[in-house]
Amino acid sequence: MSSWHISDDLRERYLEGRLEPAQAMSVDAHLGRCAGCRAAVPYEKDWLEASWARLEAELITPRLSLSERFLRHGGVPDHLARLLSATPTLSRAWLAAVVAVLAFAVLAARQQAELLPAFLIAAPVLPPAGIALAYGPRVDPAHELLAATPMSGPRLLLTRATAVLAVSVVLAGLASPLLPAPPGLAAAWLLPALAAAAGCLALSSRLPVPIAALAVGGMWLAIVGTGRFVGDWLAAFGPAPQIGYGVAGLLLTYRLYRVSAK
Ligand SMILES: [Zn+2]
Repeated sequence: MSSWHISDDLRERYLEGRLEPAQAMSVDAHLGRCAGCRAAVPYEKDWLEASWARLEAELITPRLSLSERFLRHGGVPDHLARLLSATPTLSRAWLAAVVAVLAFAVLAARQQAELLPAFLIAAPVLPPAGIALAYGPRVDPAHELLAATPMSGPRLLLTRATAVLAVSVVLAGLASPLLPAPPGLAAAWLLPALAAAAGCLALSSRLPVPIAALAVGGMWLAIVGTGRFVGDWLAAFGPAPQIGYGVAGLLLTYRLYRVSAK
C-alpha cells in the first residue's frame, strides 16, 4: 500500500484533465493499485466518453500535413490526399528546391536580360526531376506498403506525376510574370514542361523512373543546345518548336491514357 492517497483536490483536477502528464500518470498508477481511491473516482458515462474523445483526438486521428489539408480543401478525395502527401512529391524539400531554382532564375534574368533562357531551360526540367524523386523504393518510405495496394505501379506513378506537374506548373506560372519578357516568351517553358513530363512517364513504362527522367532531361538540353547552335538560346522556344512540343505532349499523353486504361 502506498503511503499517500489521492486528495479531493488532486482527484478533481485529474477528472477535469488539468494535471501535468507526470502527475496524471502517477494518479493513474495509484488508481491501478488502490481500490479505495478507485472507488472515489465517479464512474460517469459523460466523463468516460469525453476522455475517449480526448484520447482519440490525440492518438488516433493523424495530424494532417499542410499539403494534405490543402489538397482536401481543394476537393481531392481523402484517400488520394493522404497518398499524395505521404510521398516526398509534395515534401517541403522538393518544394523548396523548386522555389529556389525558379527564384534564382527570375533574379538572374532581372539582373541580366541575356540570362532569361536560364529560366525557360530550367522550368521544363523540374517535372521530370520531381517525378524521379517522387517515386521508387529508395526514396519512398511508404513504397512497401503501397506496392501491396491496388493503386501501385503505373496508376500510382501517374497520380503522383500529375501532382508534381501541377505543382511545378503553378509555381513556374506564378514566377513567369516576374520575368523581364513579354508574356508569350515568359510562358515559353509551359509546353516543353508538359511534353517532358509526359515523355518521362511514357519512358517509365520501359525504364526505371530516374533513368527515364535523366533521358528526358538530356533530350531537352540537347534540343536547347541544338537551338543555340543554329540560332540563339531562344531558338528552341520559337513558334515552330512550340508546335512540336505541343504535338509531342498530346501524342505522349494519349499513349499514357491508352496504357493506363488497360
Ligand atoms: Zn489510495
